[in-house]
Amino acid sequence: MTAGQNDTFSDAIRRLDRAAEFAEIDAEALEKLRNPKSILQVSIPLRMDDGSLRVFQGYRVRYNDTRGPTKGGIRFHPGVCLSEVKALAFWMTCKCAVVSIPFGGGKGGIIVDPKQLSRTELERLSRGFIAQVADFIGPETDIPAPDVYTNAMIMGWMMDEYSKIRRQRTPAVITGKPIPLGGSLGRDDATGRGAYYCIKELEKLKDWQPSDTRVAVQGFGNAGQHVSRLLHADGYRVVAISDSRGGVYHPDGLDIPCLIETKNRTRRIDAVYCEGSVCDCPVCGSEGCQCEDCHCSDGHEAKSEKISNAALLELDVDILIPAALENQITANNANQIKAPVIVEVANGPTTSDADEILAERNTLVVPDILANAGGVTVSYFEWVQNRAGYSWTEKEVQSRLRTIMTEEFHSIYDLMTAKGIEMRTAAYAHALNRISAAVEALGTNKYFSNGLAST
Ligand code: GLU
Repeated sequence: MTAGQNDTFSDAIRRLDRAAEFAEIDAEALEKLRNPKSILQVSIPLRMDDGSLRVFQGYRVRYNDTRGPTKGGIRFHPGVCLSEVKALAFWMTCKCAVVSIPFGGGKGGIIVDPKQLSRTELERLSRGFIAQVADFIGPETDIPAPDVYTNAMIMGWMMDEYSKIRRQRTPAVITGKPIPLGGSLGRDDATGRGAYYCIKELEKLKDWQPSDTRVAVQGFGNAGQHVSRLLHADGYRVVAISDSRGGVYHPDGLDIPCLIETKNRTRRIDAVYCEGSVCDCPVCGSEGCQCEDCHCSDGHEAKSEKISNAALLELDVDILIPAALENQITANNANQIKAPVIVEVANGPTTSDADEILAERNTLVVPDILANAGGVTVSYFEWVQNRAGYSWTEKEVQSRLRTIMTEEFHSIYDLMTAKGIEMRTAAYAHALNRISAAVEALGTNKYFSNGLAST
C-alpha cells in the first residue's frame, strides 16, 4: 500500500505544497487551505423493507467557501471514509477555482453499498441523509450534486426532502436533478463532455488522427460512458472499457453504443462476454455463441475479450482515461503505464508518488481538477437557472461549457509549458492564484500589519 491509499487526504494536500511554489499565493491563504472549514458526521437510521433497522454513517464536509458557497457531490459507496470525503471536498475547492465558477468546495458521502438496497430503501436513505444535514446545506451555503453511485433521481428525492423541511420549493439547493424538477439540460453528460473538450484541444496540439488513436477507459459509470460515446462518435478507437466487475478489450475498437446499451440493459459490462454459467463460449461473439448478452437488440455481435481493471491501465494505448475511483495509479503500477497521455475523469485516480514516476516517464496527465470539471460547471449553470428562473437550451449549455473548458485548458497548458512543470501542478497553481486573490481581498497580514486598518 502506498501513502496515498492509506490516507487520501494527506496525499491530496501534498499537491498543495508542490503547486504553491509556482503560484502567487499568500501564506495565509495556503494555511487556510490545509484543513476543511467544517465537517458534519451523521447517523442515518433506515427502516429496511423487511422491518429491521439499520443505521448508516454519512458525512458532509464544507472545505472552503472563500470564493462562494461550498459545492460538491454526495457519494454512496462502501469505501467512503472521512479522509476520502475531505480529499474530495479539497479537490472541489480547487476544481471550482480552475473553471472560475463562484463556488468553494464541499463533498458528502454515505458508507453504503447501494446495490444491496431496494429502490424504496434507497429513497428513504437519501431523504434520511438530507433530514440530518438540512441545517448544514442550502442554496447560499452548500450545494450538493451527484457523485459515484448517486444519480438524478436521488438528487430529486433530496431536493424534495429539503423543500419539505424548509416548507418552500428550493430547487437551487441541489444540482444534477431530473429536468422536470429543475435540472439543466446538458448536465447529464457534462462531466464526460468536459473531458472530451479537453481531448479535442489536445487533438489539435498533438495532431492526432482519431481513427489511429487508441483509448482505454477504466470505469463505465456516467462520466466514463459519455466520454467514450463522444470519442467513439468522433472516430476514436476506444479499445477497452471496464466497470467494477471487469472489462472488455478489442484492439480494433469496441462498439461503444452497443456496450452502453448492454451495460444499461444488463447493468454489467462483463455480461457482454459469456461467463461459465451463462454461456460457455470463451469470447463473446465467437462463432456459435448463442448467449443473448453477446448481441445488441439490432443483432450486432459485441466481439471482445475479457480484461481486468488492473490490466486495462497497463494497455499499450494512446490515451488512458481513469473514470472510476481514486488511487488506481500508484507507485506500484505507474512504471507499467504505457499510455503517453492520461486524462483523469475520476477524482484522484493518481497518487502523488505515482505523479513523480509519471513525470519522469514524460506522461502528460490532464488532471482531474480540470478534466472532470465539466460536471460542476454545468451544475453552476443549473444553479444560475434555478435562481433566475431561466431554462437554457442544451446547445447554449454546451456552448458555454466548451468556452470555459477550452479557455481554462489553454491557460493551464500554457502555464505548464512556461514554467516547465507537470500539468497537474499548473492546474493547482492556476486554482491557487484565484483562491488567494479572494483570501487577499478580505485582508491578510500584509494589509493589517501595515497599519492601514485604521485608515
Ligand atoms: N461529483 C461531481 C464532481 O466531482 C460533480 C459535483 C457538482 O456538480 O457539484 O465534480
